[in-house]
Amino acid sequence: MELALKRSDRLAALGELSARMAHEIRNPLAAISGSVQLLAEHGSLRDHESRLLAIVMRESDRLNGLITDFLAYARPTPPRFERFNLCHLVRDLQALLMADSRFDKVRLVLDLSEDLTAWADRGQLQQVLLNLLHNAAEAMQDGGEILVSADLQSGTDDAGRAFSLLCLKILDQGCGMDEDTCRHLFEPFWTTKPAGTGLGLATVYRIVEGHGGMIQADPRDEGGTMMTLLLPMMEEGPGENQNSGC
Ligand code: ADP
Ligand code: MG
Repeated sequence: MELALKRSDRLAALGELSARMAHEIRNPLAAISGSVQLLAEHGSLRDHESRLLAIVMRESDRLNGLITDFLAYARPTPPRFERFNLCHLVRDLQALLMADSRFDKVRLVLDLSEDLTAWADRGQLQQVLLNLLHNAAEAMQDGGEILVSADLQSGTDDAGRAFSLLCLKILDQGCGMDEDTCRHLFEPFWTTKPAGTGLGLATVYRIVEGHGGMIQADPRDEGGTMMTLLLPMMEEGPGENQNSGC
């Protein structure tokens, strides 16, 4: 027991240390991006100089993205549960993604009730959905449809206690995944993309775990992938109001 605690303490300290490092990298990186931006706007550059500056800017952006993903993974915060309308959240994301070039040829189709209420950390669930939708779109280079569906499943467990689960599915028409990826995709730094960080699904996994839920990836025989998310929902307490209307 004592050993296990020490190990978890060590892991927490390591997470804290690497998160601090990531923050420290951000400041000089911002100075590099800012200076290069100024140079690029200078106007009197030769072609090959502009090309080199474009590379520095692109790679700085990539590094910044990596740090953002890393911080989300390395410093998980406990969920702050609240009740909110899931349909509103998904529609907000749909509007947000319209400005994302990865979704130029991708259509989001929604199949969820307008008054579906979730009990979760809203910000964290948004992050989960964004990561899953980004992956789905990135797997669909030729475009197509992503179907987002959700419903509540109720039942009783072996001990006769009532439970309710939110079941959220994201079905894409992308490239699917091989056996190796299926086995490792929730591990940090597992990526099959040239510019991927491999931190998206590791973060998703941590968040889902923090909610006491589970997530599963199933490549489909007919092509594409189905991601299934199950989150336990708490029964509505006395005096709480349901949000409704999407
Ligand atoms: P990244 O997107 O940076 O590669 P992720 O952790 O988000 O990292 O995903 C890990 C890997 O899982 C991806 O590189 C990809 O191989 C695979 N993957 C995730 N989602 C899908 C999907 N919807 N279709 C096909 N492959 C996927
Ligand atoms: Mg990803």
